[in-house]
Amino acid sequence: MNTHDVFATAGRLGRPVSGEVLIDAHGHLGHGPDFPIIRPTAEALVASMDRLGIQFTCISSIQAIFGDAEHGNALVAEALRAYPDRFFGYLVVDVGYPAKVAAQLAGGIAAGFRGLKVWSYGARPGLPYNHPNYGPVFAYANEHAMPVLAHVFGPELEELRGHIKKYPRIRWLLAHIGSAELEKYMGFAQEFPTVYVELCLSTCPRGLVEHLVAAGLEDKVVWGSDVVFLDQASQLGRVLFAQIPVGAKRKILGLNARKVLGLK
Ligand SMILES: [Zn+2]
Repeated sequence: MNTHDVFATAGRLGRPVSGEVLIDAHGHLGHGPDFPIIRPTAEALVASMDRLGIQFTCISSIQAIFGDAEHGNALVAEALRAYPDRFFGYLVVDVGYPAKVAAQLAGGIAAGFRGLKVWSYGARPGLPYNHPNYGPVFAYANEHAMPVLAHVFGPELEELRGHIKKYPRIRWLLAHIGSAELEKYMGFAQEFPTVYVELCLSTCPRGLVEHLVAAGLEDKVVWGSDVVFLDQASQLGRVLFAQIPVGAKRKILGLNARKVLGLK
């Protein structure tokens, strides 16, 4: 065992990673749209974080993503109030109802949200990111220099290209690298200084993390789990045991996220 690799060592021992910055940049609260999740609550999530050594999880509401922003965001706002040191909130707005958006954005900032989560289509009907309704949303994020976590599974990359160029103050987290169009995700991270790629995925493509680091992207890869859809432990293992230098693990598991999210 490489005793200098505190990450792999903690994983093998089943102990929390300690003395390191661990940030989960992609999490959720609440039940699935059409399936229940066991205890999808802030309390259960904090317990999971403590078991693993994660200081901070960045969350949005599943309910909000699937059409009920008002009630879903309220649930996240409650978690931000209860655990201000453990959660970072991504606001979700109803892009399908543009008249509601300005008030939702202002209300979100007031409630302590510091980022936006956008979800185009895939498992549900939704607008593509290049739909005009997204214009005011991204303009607001740009004005406030907010990070935007974008659900991506391939085709959405091209829909985002124009926004990435137009809004240079947004730091973009392109979710689910490894899902599809791997080279294109990597090209975005290489081309645009504001673009980062995020790792959560229900599959575990062999060698993905190693491939990204070998391509020179260790400063552009951010770890996320998709908790409470997926378990933080299994997603964390993908990086703890990756065959990459310890310094790269440190960046991917926390230091890069800290930069993207603007955390101290
Ligand atoms: Zn997600």
